[in-house]
Amino acid sequence: MNWRKHYKKAITFSYDDGVEQDVRLLEILSDYGLKATFNLNTGLDYDHGTWQYEDKFQVHRLNLPEVRALYEGHEIAVHGREHLCLTGLDEAALHRELALDAEEITRIFGEAPVGMAYAYGAYNDAVVEKLRSLGLQYARTVESTHSFAEQPDLLRFRPTCHHDDEKLFQLADEFLSMKPDAPQIFYIWGHSYEFEGKKNWDRFRRFCERISGREDIFYGTNRQVLL
Ligand SMILES: [Zn+2]
Repeated sequence: MNWRKHYKKAITFSYDDGVEQDVRLLEILSDYGLKATFNLNTGLDYDHGTWQYEDKFQVHRLNLPEVRALYEGHEIAVHGREHLCLTGLDEAALHRELALDAEEITRIFGEAPVGMAYAYGAYNDAVVEKLRSLGLQYARTVESTHSFAEQPDLLRFRPTCHHDDEKLFQLADEFLSMKPDAPQIFYIWGHSYEFEGKKNWDRFRRFCERISGREDIFYGTNRQVLL
C-alpha cells in the first residue's frame, strides 16, 4: 500500500548502529505506535565496535542474531559491515562493507534490505553509484533540511532534523497543523545512545506523545514512507 493514496502526511524515524539503548527506544516507539528504520553494522557486536561516550558509559552494540525479535515490525537497513567511512575505501573494500552487510542482514532478519544510512554521514558520487548497483533504493545523509517536502534524489536523502534539534517541537507543531496538497514527510534521525548520554529520554517521549495517534498521519518505516 502506498500511503500517499490515503494520507498527505507521514512520519518516520531512522536510528543507527544497533546499540543496547535501542531496547528502550523500541519500547517508547511501541508505546506510541511509531515505526522506525534501524541501520545496522552486522560485522560488529557487543565486544566489537565498543566505545566510550564522554566519561559516562561504554556504548555496546547488540548481538544481532540474539535480538532479531526485538526489531520486529520495524525496518532493518544497511549501515556498513564495520561502520567504515565509505569515501575512504577502494572498490573491493567498499563492496565488502556494503554487500556483506546487506547479505548478513538478509540472513539474520530474513529480508533483503532496500535502504541504508551513511556512516559518519560520508558519501560521494562513487559511493552513490555503488549503492545503485547493489539495488539499494534510498540512503540517508545527516544534513537537516527543516523541511517536509519530498526529495527527488533518494540516494542522497536529507532528514528533516536530528532528534536533538532545537527546532524539533516547533517543526512538530508546524507539521501537525499543516493541511498540504502535496505529500509531506517528517523524518527524524539519531542514535539511541544519545538519549542516555544527554539524559533526555523524556524529551523524546514528549515528542512521540505529541505527534502520535493522528488520523491524518501515516506512521511507517523509511521504506514504507520514502518508496
Ligand atoms: Zn553510525
